[in-house]
Amino acid sequence: MRFGHPWIFSGALASAPQTENATLADILSSRGELLGQGFYTPHARLAVRMLAQPGEPIFSTETIHRRLAAAIERRRQLFTGKNNSARLVFAESDFLPGLIVDQFDGILSVQLNGAFAEHYRADILASLNALLKPKEIFDTSDNDARNREGLKGVSRIHNADETIIMSGGIRYAARIGAGQKTGFYLDQRTNRAIVAEHAAGCRALDAFCYSGGFSLACAKAGATAVTAIDSSADALQLFARNLELNAADLPQREKINTVQADVFEELRKMKAAGEKFNLIILDPPKLAPSRSKTVAAEKAYKDLNLQALHLAAPGALLATFSCSGAMTFDKLRQVLHYAAHDAGKQLQILQPLVQAEDHPVLLAFPESEYLRGYLCRVYI
Ligand code: SAH
Repeated sequence: MRFGHPWIFSGALASAPQTENATLADILSSRGELLGQGFYTPHARLAVRMLAQPGEPIFSTETIHRRLAAAIERRRQLFTGKNNSARLVFAESDFLPGLIVDQFDGILSVQLNGAFAEHYRADILASLNALLKPKEIFDTSDNDARNREGLKGVSRIHNADETIIMSGGIRYAARIGAGQKTGFYLDQRTNRAIVAEHAAGCRALDAFCYSGGFSLACAKAGATAVTAIDSSADALQLFARNLELNAADLPQREKINTVQADVFEELRKMKAAGEKFNLIILDPPKLAPSRSKTVAAEKAYKDLNLQALHLAAPGALLATFSCSGAMTFDKLRQVLHYAAHDAGKQLQILQPLVQAEDHPVLLAFPESEYLRGYLCRVYI
């Protein structure tokens, strides 16, 4: 906290307000020195979320409005002709703990993931309405995060309306509130463009494709064939819709094939069939849901990368990702090293890949860094 980390766990508190209600509180060190203001949640392991340092104005709903306005302003340059969507608020990284706001064209998808955000729900929504005048705001909160702070989960609404997201110059259909995450994976925007730069003339494999973000970017950039795998029928249905939406930019649409399958199994089948690709993208869901699961997750990441390397043609590119917070760049590198060793290949790292800039990493809050990857070249 002293160095700006915005959380204090309950075990670190010598004493706490005698209240059953979550509340704003002054936070003092053991020597009685004022450390700042925080939001205290009784009975939660994450007991305090810091809100203001000494010397900053006293925290109030005015502060929330100011921080929302500033976070929105910081994303303004992203809304060019190529993007009508971005993450506007990334929780602690934007000094609004547990609050996520994604804009998808005229719609907002808001997550109130904790007691602080829930406590100020009405103020947050009023500010967002005043600042952005959205057509609609959907609550897509993460119920696990809410339950950890003793809050009731919110139920997902059935949104039958399609929103057309424009991200990186590509159109995507989404049913905000009904699909995965907040509706679309905004965090991979820049990486899709980086990978697509290498796609011309490639046979590409997009494993864990969801609605086709990487596939569409690669196809548009001139990949000669794209095979995309996901286990979710709903995701592949969105993908099919996205192919229609981008038809004008995809002259070789028949070269894009989707496969509904488990990636771990499908890659093995492809190896048996002798398939080879020049560009492979691995973007799995969180395989390490918590720090305690890291060892099992490392094995899964290694297996995944090993299977993918078996499918790599000489000189192929591999864009491999992890969105598990606990999987550091060092660990990911080690996993790749083991996978390359077992596959009998050499790997060159061309560049590390990170979450897009509308998901900034706050230095004092390492937990805000979660999406990591490497673009590698594979040698036999
Ligand atoms: N690359 C995507 C995002 C991937 S999210 C994009 O750019 O938008 C992870 C995806 O993995 C989800 O769509 C989920 O349905 C899929 N998934 C999870 N486990 C899987 C498995 N074992 N096999 C295949 N797909 C899986």
